Amino acid sequence: MEFGGIPQEVTADGQLLEDLAEVARDAALLHGLLMRTRDAPNSSEVVGHAPFALFPSPVPKSLFLQALAAQPLFNRLVDRISRDPEFLENVLASTIKVDDFTARLFSIYRHVLQEGPKQSIVLGLNRSDYMVDQDRDGGMSLKQIEINTIAASFGGLTSQMPDVHRHILGVAERLEDQKKILDNNPAAGLAKGLAKAWELYGSERAVVMFLVEEIQRNIYDHRYIENELWKRNIPVIRRRFEEVFKTGSLDQEKRLFVGGKEVAIVYFRNGYMPQNYTEQSWEVRLMMERSLAIKCPDIGTHLAGTKKVQQELARPGVLESFFPNEPDAVDQIRATFAGQYTLDMGEEGDRTVAMALAEPDVFVLKPQREGGGNNIYGSEICQVLEAVKGGSERTAYILMDKIRPRPSHNYLLRPGEPLRLNACLSELGAFGAYVRHGKDMVMNECVGHLLRTKSVEYSDGGVAAGVAVLDNPLLV
Ligand code: ADP
Ligand code: MG
Repeated sequence: MEFGGIPQEVTADGQLLEDLAEVARDAALLHGLLMRTRDAPNSSEVVGHAPFALFPSPVPKSLFLQALAAQPLFNRLVDRISRDPEFLENVLASTIKVDDFTARLFSIYRHVLQEGPKQSIVLGLNRSDYMVDQDRDGGMSLKQIEINTIAASFGGLTSQMPDVHRHILGVAERLEDQKKILDNNPAAGLAKGLAKAWELYGSERAVVMFLVEEIQRNIYDHRYIENELWKRNIPVIRRRFEEVFKTGSLDQEKRLFVGGKEVAIVYFRNGYMPQNYTEQSWEVRLMMERSLAIKCPDIGTHLAGTKKVQQELARPGVLESFFPNEPDAVDQIRATFAGQYTLDMGEEGDRTVAMALAEPDVFVLKPQREGGGNNIYGSEICQVLEAVKGGSERTAYILMDKIRPRPSHNYLLRPGEPLRLNACLSELGAFGAYVRHGKDMVMNECVGHLLRTKSVEYSDGGVAAGVAVLDNPLLV
């Protein structure tokens, strides 16, 4: 177990720890690491700090750099998949038979494809997540957990984390560590992508519409990006599905208007799980996809982020088909893949079932869902597989090797919770932003990182789910 950047005097002296935590919470508030409260999730009158780690957590430098360097390749990969109907159709065929949500998304994809896409400007803002796997001999490698192509969050709030930790480390007299805190501003980079796409759309009065959730506890995360756009005099509106349903329409050229304003970009910060949709929202999604507005993501890019696609990419030869003549790109991407296995009907899927039942602790069973808290571990894998293994319901899942990061110690600061030294695991995210105009990639960058840390007791769940906290990498 590593103690990362935690000074021993802090773990030894309760009063010192309490004092430091108080300084830390105030620093978080002063630096705008904010979240609305559970009690008043749609009000900004009284707010709290977002959950965060008291100290930065160790991340091996070479693996950190590896994640950042791979991001432009992942951007290109997602973009190519999104434009490959045959691939998506084949890969998702089994999933859409049993998973209604993916099936509905797919029917919108087909609809748009038949009609012919209206917009040749593509904007992708994604986040590829990783953990550092430690093998039996102590060797470490970077392994991808998933790639989020819709509503990838925390780019805003995490932009405030460097200053928060710098302040805490200063007060804790850890000046060496303080110097190691990296600059990080994904909010600016994500906004740069939005701004670039908005300029290409080419209408000064057209707005960027953030499509937002009913309950907006995490609004400040959006606001950082939003405010970067306002700084450039790019107008932003925030609307829920219902509001778009009531006041949205397409004109003859398929321009999208909402409440009388032309929409240049629909930026989805909602719409990634079944619970986000009513019948009305599905109508709205279809209308937006059919429109001239730039969708971030468009429906093909949304589907490219499914776990079934991720599993398929790990199959021999598939990456090569997306990057012909680029063996280095293939190697760089593949190096981050953990073992993934199909549960499609047939011999290969049967072998996956047998393998999982024989040794459930070394795998994660993943349903085709986003948003955290859905994965299945350990003995529960056996229960679920025993129930579904004989029929096509099993194809709603994929199986993945379980990644085993080395725990490190930290204090996780969450409003209303006592301070406790926790054994923690961290998950590193790399933010990608790209803009394609017709055939030309006019922007393709890694625009920053995210480190989320959680207690080892939790095998699943992110910051929004109340499990993980925001953190900074301390490169080691
Ligand atoms: P979601 O779309 O719900 O965020 P993820 O694939 O990111 O789904 O999984 C959620 C969480 O489960 C991750 O944040 C990570 O903590 C854990 N997890 C997912 N895959 C693995 C894996 N292969 N090994 C270990 N933990 C995993
Ligand atoms: Mg995730």
